[in-house]
Amino acid sequence: MPEEYSKYLESLNERQREAACTDISTPLMIVAGPGSGKTSTMVGRVLMLLNEGISPLNILAMTFTTAAASEMRKRIGAIAGKETAKELPISTFHSFCLQLCRSHAEKLGRTSEFLIYGQWQQRNAIIEATRLLENETSRHKNGELLIGETSNSLRTPKQFKDKAKKWQKFVTQAKASGRTSAEFREMGNEIGAEVLENYSNILKSCNALDYHDLISCSVKLLTDFPEVFRESQDSWKAVVVDEFQDTSAMQYKLLKILASHHKITIIGDDDQSIFSFNGADISGFISFRNDFPNYKEIRLNKNYRSTRCIVEAASSLIKNNAKRCQSKKVLTDNSSGSKIVMKECHNEDAQCAFVVDKILEISSNHSAENFSYGNIAILYRRRISGKAFQMAFRDRKIPFNIHGVAFYRKKVVKTIIAMLQTALPGCDDGSYCRVFKALLPFEKDMKKRVVDHINKISTIRKCSFLSAACDIFSAKVSGTFKRSEITHGKKVLMTIEIISNLVNREKSISAIITSVAKMIPEKYLLEQRATVDVDGGTLLNEDYDIRSVLQYLLDDVSEFLSTKFIEIRGDKEIAEDKGCTFALKAFIDYLFEREKENFRARRKDNENSVTLTTIHQAKGLEWDFVFIVKANESEIPLLHDFKGVVKDTAPIVEEERRLLYVAMTRARQRLYILYVMMDSNWQMLQPSRFLKEIPHHLLEFQGEINMQELQIKLEDHQKETADCSTDLLIEKQQSEAGLVPVRNDLLNNHFSGSSDELAEFAEANNYSDFLRRFSVE
Ligand code: ATP
Ligand code: MG
Repeated sequence: MPEEYSKYLESLNERQREAACTDISTPLMIVAGPGSGKTSTMVGRVLMLLNEGISPLNILAMTFTTAAASEMRKRIGAIAGKETAKELPISTFHSFCLQLCRSHAEKLGRTSEFLIYGQWQQRNAIIEATRLLENETSRHKNGELLIGETSNSLRTPKQFKDKAKKWQKFVTQAKASGRTSAEFREMGNEIGAEVLENYSNILKSCNALDYHDLISCSVKLLTDFPEVFRESQDSWKAVVVDEFQDTSAMQYKLLKILASHHKITIIGDDDQSIFSFNGADISGFISFRNDFPNYKEIRLNKNYRSTRCIVEAASSLIKNNAKRCQSKKVLTDNSSGSKIVMKECHNEDAQCAFVVDKILEISSNHSAENFSYGNIAILYRRRISGKAFQMAFRDRKIPFNIHGVAFYRKKVVKTIIAMLQTALPGCDDGSYCRVFKALLPFEKDMKKRVVDHINKISTIRKCSFLSAACDIFSAKVSGTFKRSEITHGKKVLMTIEIISNLVNREKSISAIITSVAKMIPEKYLLEQRATVDVDGGTLLNEDYDIRSVLQYLLDDVSEFLSTKFIEIRGDKEIAEDKGCTFALKAFIDYLFEREKENFRARRKDNENSVTLTTIHQAKGLEWDFVFIVKANESEIPLLHDFKGVVKDTAPIVEEERRLLYVAMTRARQRLYILYVMMDSNWQMLQPSRFLKEIPHHLLEFQGEINMQELQIKLEDHQKETADCSTDLLIEKQQSEAGLVPVRNDLLNNHFSGSSDELAEFAEANNYSDFLRRFSVE
């Protein structure tokens, strides 16, 4: 064994080493508490696989985020050499499945350049699917429709949209539960079956797959095509999975097939499972035991991250969950550290002021060399709670960065990407529509009129948005528009043409993006800025300026070209003569992938900044100082849905408790928990019920409140809410609609509305991963 490998293995503790060195043919399950060094152990395991002679190219390492993947690559590189680390295909489920589907696209009835449909494109496809239905509905006229009524008259785009929302929910649920159109037909739900079929046919004819399809199509490829399975067995001699508790039933199915050779290691912590709304299912641990009966299980229970006080407080909290795979005792040799600060604040302004003061105090207590704002994080349940901090930090010149998706959710970024997409084969109507909206230099109403008309013509003529626009602006369709509208419509078509030529001609993605960004009218940029300001700055951060947006995108391009693209190019040997189309497509896939997986932008210039993040996005990360803010009832646990219906069921409460557990265990040195007494509408709020589960002797109360008072408040509140019953209506509706619950019952319990409402709810709750799947504007 190379000296570096053995040195590394020696640095692990006994159990970690035992796990890493377990015979590689033994299926291995490592269940580990937070901060117990799961990543270190996973690195050790990969070293052992390499040492056994498995080529790095044949080890499939699955992680949850790109940040985790690059961290692991860095650590393996430091021990096994950069070249080896580069060859190691560290992947996320979606990126893995995307590549598999692209390689065998023809077996799925697609070409390798297939598009990935997000919510926005999915919605258009569903509108189309219901339109097709509409044309045939005279035979269903008397209302046997499953969802919503319909008539055989031509509807306005708005009516189609409304109805499509309902159908989108149906399609999503049907896909999540793995139901086929044949099954709906058997159940007598002819219309449902038809919508599903129409939708699938549209996706096929548009050469597209949606997010659900990526995983299920990969499973299909591996099960229905023996040659794909053999190829995968030849490619993947060993599989290693981190954050296993986040895998969904479908993802587990995929893993099981990939690891038919039983060389599999899974690492996870059932107590940190917080993505069940997204299909994550901890019963995967139980399935693993059944599916790999000769497995070995190793438990790590020593926390290296946090002070004893934090470890004890978190353990006391999680003990209250009845449904745990196996209760774990987490210990630490670290010092006991300071008590956890508990602070009651009158309102959110007072909460902000407290946090700002503390941060300034921490910075003044440290010498400049020993202090970095990067050691501090503010964690909240809902993104909206971060807003006040952004403003306060700006005022007090405290540098901060906001985790997550804000950048790729900016309209201007979406517009640039849509413009790029117009140059790729099979661009969808939604992207063209977005480009028109951005480039037409009119007021909002006038733009809407133009775009609605193009949509209407495309419906009547059953043609694409682009060909309808071409017909209109080349005056084949008469009358409706003024001369100036025609002129500008033509200009937009010309711009689309120019982008297309640019992509065919240019060899550099950066140059294309720079040119495309310059084509966006100043007026549109100003409008976007205005929208953001009016909106109170939800998506606003410093790089809203187009130059910074561009720089950020170009940084991503160069990161992509130096990492991911090398991997792809290695596989596909793309030649220069393919021009930029292949690289551009791969870059857009890469953006999708990073968005999908909740990536954390770890930018160098942000390293000395306070992190503002939701708890969901803080997963796997650690900071010296952590502030959990707005630890209120109605925030954590968040038990009401978007309609205000309270769902106080044990599984939901337990997931919420795990969320607080994840938040608390992010802290290394000091933990602050704050709650507020009044919201911005002067409504009285209650502290979170979970706070009383933290032992009193581990808490330091700052301000007026003390433990007794907190206890009284909590008890009063519990009496008030004791009568809240679970809402069974949703389940009833679903069973009436012929839907089986998705495997994860929480998903069904939480979300009962239309897709828009789901997205709204997801956004309000910062279910960013979910939200991205339904990516709303
Ligand atoms: P989480 O559950 O939050 O994802 P984790 O189990 O993945 O946590 P890591 O992030 O890998 O834990 O490790 C937590 C911290 O403990 C890191 O700072 C790591 O460097 C340190 N650590 C892990 N193992 C050891 C060890 N054997 N000796 C010293 N420090 C260690
Ligand atoms: Mg981890």
